[in-house]
Amino acid sequence: MEKAIAEKKENRFMKELISETDVMFIQVMRDFVDREIMPVRHLIDADSRADFKLVQELQGKLRALGAGARGMLPPEYGGMGVQSLLSACVFLEELARGDAGLACASGGAGWAMRPAIAGFNEGYNTRILDDFSAKLTGEEMYVGCFAMTEPEGGCNIENIDMHGRGIATTARLDGDEWVINGAKMWPTNSGIASLYCVICQTDPDLGDEGIALIYVPVPIEGFTFGGFEDKMGFRSSREGGFWFDNVRVPKDYRAAGPGKDAELLHDNLIYARAFSAGWAVGPAQGAFDEVLKFTQDRLAAGKPIRQHTIAANMLADMAIGIQIGRDCYVNAAYMYDHPDVYGPKCSVHNLSRTSIAKVFCCDMAVNVTNRAMELMGSYGYVTDHHVEKYLRDVKIIQLWEGGAQLGRMDVARGYYNYDQFHKNIFYDRVHELREKAPQKA
Ligand SMILES: Cc1cc2nc3c(=O)[nH]c(=O)nc-3n(C[C@H](O)[C@H](O)[C@H](O)COP(=O)(O)OP(=O)(O)OC[C@H]3O[C@@H](n4cnc5c(N)ncnc54)[C@H](O)[C@@H]3O)c2cc1C
Repeated sequence: MEKAIAEKKENRFMKELISETDVMFIQVMRDFVDREIMPVRHLIDADSRADFKLVQELQGKLRALGAGARGMLPPEYGGMGVQSLLSACVFLEELARGDAGLACASGGAGWAMRPAIAGFNEGYNTRILDDFSAKLTGEEMYVGCFAMTEPEGGCNIENIDMHGRGIATTARLDGDEWVINGAKMWPTNSGIASLYCVICQTDPDLGDEGIALIYVPVPIEGFTFGGFEDKMGFRSSREGGFWFDNVRVPKDYRAAGPGKDAELLHDNLIYARAFSAGWAVGPAQGAFDEVLKFTQDRLAAGKPIRQHTIAANMLADMAIGIQIGRDCYVNAAYMYDHPDVYGPKCSVHNLSRTSIAKVFCCDMAVNVTNRAMELMGSYGYVTDHHVEKYLRDVKIIQLWEGGAQLGRMDVARGYYNYDQFHKNIFYDRVHELREKAPQKA
């Protein structure tokens, strides 16, 4: 009986929803994490403060497995052609159980290339893949960066009610070249990436039509990187600020064109909401595995902690959160992956669905890692059992990609016509004034 009811790792996912490729990804990553990361995970944060040697070594091994852009690029460009959001989610969950920050370098690199891949798939643009895919799939570490967030705010750019008006980085067409000016803050892989997908605005008055996704290879004249930020967690991933001062790139380094680029941006945000959900489940599962072992061995009032009703209740709540979170992201990603049944990928329905998964999984993971620490007492607070690292790491997943607040606004959009500026007299007045303003020459 005990064996039959025990949670089985292979039964965590509903088999009807996941493909054979996903089953293979889960197994490959589970083995990789257990073999390559678990034995050294206590060294990763210290290495990140030193020379990044261990982190780079692990990233090289992940790259060899096809993580990041290599996995996503079309086969004709030397990639594995993996387009499924659900595959990305399960892959990230498994990897983040080992080290969530390590998942960032490859996840961020793949994310950066999605607009170019979509532009290629839809026949808009082949130049970006023609010029960079060999490097992206080569032996050398050549990674991408999705450069969206700016010093003035990330949510202003992600908020679809802003229609691109929160983007301060400008792109101006001069002959056959884009001239880019502005600043970005926080993008994953900043300072180490070789190819930046830069979210720009060609003219704020154009709204969504003015959003432009332009690829910038670095080093390039006019690009300056400010330095790496010192973070609470995610130490194995690197982020910082950088500037564009009249940076020039060819005209066809733009992913698609007016209107289409906005859709590619929104699609990438929908995609990232779901993969962030899967990503958050990994550390929650890791912390749960630790606390389950700890509370079996450690006694309180003469018996194992987990045999006390109050602890069993807490452990049950953690398990409920983790499994519901997983079910939730699997459902949302499955719907996204099947537009024939559930409608276009880039839709308010999918934004709402994937935001439900992200908000729920992140709140759950922050709570689970925190509760795991409570059950372990002071032992949870020291580095030996890794729970403090899981807690530090998972917090940023809740803060990024719209954070908990914009995430909830995007959930609401799936249920009624939510618009933050609905009947906002000040906003209407700004529109009125804009319309009355003399047209540009
Ligand atoms: C490790 C790490 C990796 C990252 N990776 C990337 C990356 O790859 N690419 C990238 O571009 N960025 C990346 N970021 C940046 C991250 O996505 C942003 O920090 C995040 O989106 C929030 O933006 P912000 O910090 O400017 O906060 P703000 O946008 O200033 O928001 C601050 C607070 O205000 C709330 N808020 C904002 N707007 C509204 C509103 N309209 N109504 C109500 N509340 C609102 C927010 O929810 C939040 O609570 C990364 C950051 C880190 C730390």
